[in-house]
Amino acid sequence: MSAGPVGKQIQSIYRDRLGQFTGGGQYESQNLLAAMYEGRASGEEHVKLSVYSPPDLARPTFKEATSQGFKSTRIGESFGPSWSTHWFKVQITVPSDLQKKDHLELHWDASNEGLIWTEEGEPLQGLTGGGERVEWILPKSFRDGKEHMIYIEMACNRMFGNSPGGDSIQPPDPNKYFQLQTADIVAVNLEARALFVDFWLIGDGAREFPGDSWESHEAQQIGNAIVDAFIAGHGSKESIIECRKIAQKYLGDKVDSSKVYETDTQPIVFAIGNCHIDTCWLWPWAETKRKIARSWSIQCDLLDRYPEYRFVGSQAQQYKWLEQLYPSLYDRVKAKVKKGTFQPIGGSWVEHDTNMPSGESLVRQFLYGQRFFESHFGDRCTTFWLPDTFGYSSQLPQLCRLAGMSRFFTQKLSWNNINSFPHTTFNWVSLDGSQVLCHMSPAETYTAEAHFGDVKRSVSQHKSMDQDATSLLAFGKGDGGGGPTFQQIEKLRRCRGISDNVGLLPRVKMGDSVEDFFARLEKKAENGTKFVTWYGELYFELHRGTYTTQANNKRNNRKSEIMLHDVEYLATLASIKDSSYKYPKKDIDDMWENTLLCQFHDCLPGTCIEMCYDDSDELYAKVFETGEKLMKEALSTLGFSREVSAQQDIVALNTLPWHRAEIVQLPGASSKTPEYALIDGNMGIANIMTLSSSAKSTASIKEIEKGVFQLSNNHYKLEVEGGTITSLVDLTVNREIIAKGGKANQLVIFDDKPLYWQAWDVEVYHLESREVLPAGRTEILEQGPHRVSVITETKISERSWVKTTISLAASVEDQPSYVEMASEVEWRENMKFLKVEFPVDIVNTEASYETQYGIMRRPTHYNTSWDMAKFEVCCHKWADLSENGYGVSILNDSKYGFATCGNMMRLSLLRAPKAPDAHADMGRHHIRYAILPHAGPLDSRTVRTASNFNHPMRLLASASSSHSLLSSITLHGSPALVLDCIKRGEDDADVSRGEFARSTGRSVILRVYESLGGRARGEIRVAEEVGVRRVWRCNLLEDDEGEVEMRRGRAEIELRAFEVATFRLQL
Ligand SMILES: [Zn+2]
Repeated sequence: MSAGPVGKQIQSIYRDRLGQFTGGGQYESQNLLAAMYEGRASGEEHVKLSVYSPPDLARPTFKEATSQGFKSTRIGESFGPSWSTHWFKVQITVPSDLQKKDHLELHWDASNEGLIWTEEGEPLQGLTGGGERVEWILPKSFRDGKEHMIYIEMACNRMFGNSPGGDSIQPPDPNKYFQLQTADIVAVNLEARALFVDFWLIGDGAREFPGDSWESHEAQQIGNAIVDAFIAGHGSKESIIECRKIAQKYLGDKVDSSKVYETDTQPIVFAIGNCHIDTCWLWPWAETKRKIARSWSIQCDLLDRYPEYRFVGSQAQQYKWLEQLYPSLYDRVKAKVKKGTFQPIGGSWVEHDTNMPSGESLVRQFLYGQRFFESHFGDRCTTFWLPDTFGYSSQLPQLCRLAGMSRFFTQKLSWNNINSFPHTTFNWVSLDGSQVLCHMSPAETYTAEAHFGDVKRSVSQHKSMDQDATSLLAFGKGDGGGGPTFQQIEKLRRCRGISDNVGLLPRVKMGDSVEDFFARLEKKAENGTKFVTWYGELYFELHRGTYTTQANNKRNNRKSEIMLHDVEYLATLASIKDSSYKYPKKDIDDMWENTLLCQFHDCLPGTCIEMCYDDSDELYAKVFETGEKLMKEALSTLGFSREVSAQQDIVALNTLPWHRAEIVQLPGASSKTPEYALIDGNMGIANIMTLSSSAKSTASIKEIEKGVFQLSNNHYKLEVEGGTITSLVDLTVNREIIAKGGKANQLVIFDDKPLYWQAWDVEVYHLESREVLPAGRTEILEQGPHRVSVITETKISERSWVKTTISLAASVEDQPSYVEMASEVEWRENMKFLKVEFPVDIVNTEASYETQYGIMRRPTHYNTSWDMAKFEVCCHKWADLSENGYGVSILNDSKYGFATCGNMMRLSLLRAPKAPDAHADMGRHHIRYAILPHAGPLDSRTVRTASNFNHPMRLLASASSSHSLLSSITLHGSPALVLDCIKRGEDDADVSRGEFARSTGRSVILRVYESLGGRARGEIRVAEEVGVRRVWRCNLLEDDEGEVEMRRGRAEIELRAFEVATFRLQL
């Protein structure tokens, strides 16, 4: 019986009321926030501050900094400019009235990042600033009324660098100052803090569960009951405890400990802490090194405080920096790795781009990564972890498998802005048929805040629930580092409490590893669950500008890869020839590690701030300098010299594993009358034959009408008008290659303003703005019998121009002949995209593009939104459009962006984004590309010629008479097989840097792949002087997997389509 009238609660009013209890603003002094702190002390008497500000934006070590003079400072002072560092001596004296309080913290906030150090120089914990992660728990020993000292290293940047305003991708403001607002000792009411989280999650239940669910109504009732109890008790300590008891009705009684997870119910969402530290992005590497210490020290602290908590850390490079720069913190991490709570993951050197690195680079990301993880922590990784990279190339599953990883985690495809990727958990199949089990977090982020909604979305956005409904929830602050906060871990406990106590919310669990998660899926697959498959690349429908932005950086990447190829080949042979020659493993490792570092998923894609490219330029310069030195030393051991003086002593070095015959310009002669030679030879030393003007194959040029030039050799006859090729006839088959009315080598420019991410994106509508660049005068540049060329200057704008040389060399016997273009570009544009077009008379609905260890076929039409989404794609050294019987390949040197639309092939040359680097790509560029028409199908002619095009032969002076060693290891048989790498074994006794006790004696590693997509047979031949005893098939990590029979220096091999095979020759 009701004592009087009772009204129905208006749901929206009682729900909105909940916000009052924990919100800032007009009720803050009356609500739970007012009860959060029981006391506060600051000022000279309790928190005495002095500072040392190193000059010139230096980042001194603890020792260097603390040995300097400190001068007094106080709250309210500002520190800067951007990127500067300030070391604070913080002398803490806890006042007597706070000494008896339950829990004391130092709160420090200058809206920038910081790291707390002990007086002795141990890094303790990172600080984020701006109200986030500002607290450090004072040790009990500080409550003795005496003065205690710590240091705080302040970095004048926020988590996302130093952007001028709210738009974090704008170029950094170099002159930002940061005010120290808070440096207080604070007594925290821990029950109030816990109630805050209780109430947050109960409020989420009221707001986010369906309005017609009893679970939502219940949450609303309990939330209001808590507010009522707090008001009735005037916010006293006792009333807060009462409020928490009420909260238990919704959350259960276990949320204050990890016991909340120890129930007999089945979890479905597996939460794992992670902190995505971009190795460089809106800050330089030097800052990343400190971000690692700040982030991982916090995580160690959280692992101590929360027994259920697990954290994954990727990128071997970051561990290596930690080990070098913060050895005690590294030891702390290592102890936690041993305990199993801090979990190394990923197996790669950095979280790298996967579109542009070469096949061998991808291999080395894994080789260097896995070797680091195994040598430092005892185990290799089994999961390739790449949450943020911009698309995933088609051979990754095969390479993962060969590097000991059967699992792959990402989520980036959730950013697709055209099609929604249809799977969450699936088998990803590479070109050769290899598979890895892939999981894309349905929460669609790797920086989840561990909100109620993240847990909910882990089921509501799960796309593979017909096979398995479980998922990973990767939570923690990220991109700029940080990682999970204690609030996030507390929230997850309450989410689980709600699931077990009320239901409806997916049941989350913490305490498992990513490996546990995948192991369960693999078990399911073994027991018959058929996961959906996805064949080929995981094309990312966004960030397509990253194939082109920061051209110089991309060029350095390809040149480094080529140089490393040559260095390893020559050093291997030198070490076989001469036992006193020491294989330069350390230098080679340094070259590789630097190259791999620059392949980080913001660096190589071109999406960093300008400072990062100053850094990468420096690293690449080091790579080239070391490479030249190593090359010189190895060549000298092999009997050659790089100093070419007199022509008659010259030989040419062919480091590619096939026969080459090319007309090459000899050095020394003036450029007015260049002297040419025919270089002809297999891998190793090639002969140089000087060419007389009476050679039987020649090139010729004539102006057939005013401004129209005809260039020809035995293969082609082409007409150039206005800098474009209006006709290109293949004389061998009498066929016109240029589409009717089309102009090849036509430079075109596009307006390039993507929706937001400038350096990252080129958006589909840029195609509407195509503008043809009108060419200026064309002149004959060269008119010799061996090579002819014309040069055309094209004005882009008042500030920018292109000078393009189109040249044709005399054709050589049966070698493919191509038309070469070399451009010099002065580029000063603003948000424009420069491309060059090749309309060809070829019909096909698919074009082919070189990718790592294979060929990617993509549509040339826009039938479906999936086809259209690929309006700009990545290629390596060539792209090809072929029909039955004939095709055209476009070769490039150091470019990666391409598009084929119908019969229009378009190579992307330069972009001009203004964020985050305001000067990206401004200045002078040298660009080379070529048209290689071919009768018959796409085949090894394209693969080889494109390699040759990127890989000019070196001229050497020869001192020795025998060059046989240079061609002592060769591959014969199918031309589809490519011997892509020759190096020494990582663990060879005379090579190893001692990471492992194991030894492989002396060995040579060969990497071979099938390049065209079909089964292929070949034979490895090794000359007697190399002294091979046995041959092993091995994986990328150089573990033997089976012996290959070798007879009289010959071993037969067979590879399936697009297979990558590694062989170890035991000497
Ligand atoms: Zn990232």
